Amino acid sequence: MAKLKIVKVGDDVLRKECRPVDKITPRVLTLLDDMAETMRAAGGVGLAAPQVGVLRRIVVIECEEGELIELINPKIIAYSGENEGLEGCLSLPGQWGIVTRPMHVTVRAMNRHGEIVDYTGSDLLARAFCHELDHLDGKLYPDVAERMLSPEEIKEIERD
Ligand code: ZN
Repeated sequence: MAKLKIVKVGDDVLRKECRPVDKITPRVLTLLDDMAETMRAAGGVGLAAPQVGVLRRIVVIECEEGELIELINPKIIAYSGENEGLEGCLSLPGQWGIVTRPMHVTVRAMNRHGEIVDYTGSDLLARAFCHELDHLDGKLYPDVAERMLSPEEIKEIERD
């Protein structure tokens, strides 16, 4: 496994639409492993392939330690409720915003074995699904945020 460099906001790669994966190759599996390692090393709960410079529809999420979710060609197939909360991104270090997302989200994706699996998550996991899938279409959370936090508010959070 290798730790990859995380692309930061301002880089065009974060604004491009990613292409689907049509075959699970050893390269895809290596990318999944490297993305998980990169996410954990950065202390994030999710990472999308464009954040490591790869324009493919691949996402890793780990909201609960040890519960890694790997999503290939993910699609949101159902959602409900509303949940306003704090959101950040490894590609926008030091920034936070208030974003309204669905409370419950179901995603259909391929896993590393090429099987189609549905994943349902609530609260933070639902938020992570929405946030990471947006990356695959070149969207960043400030695009959909109610507002971004001020430097004073960020100081408050980082003190906790
Ligand atoms: Zn992000």
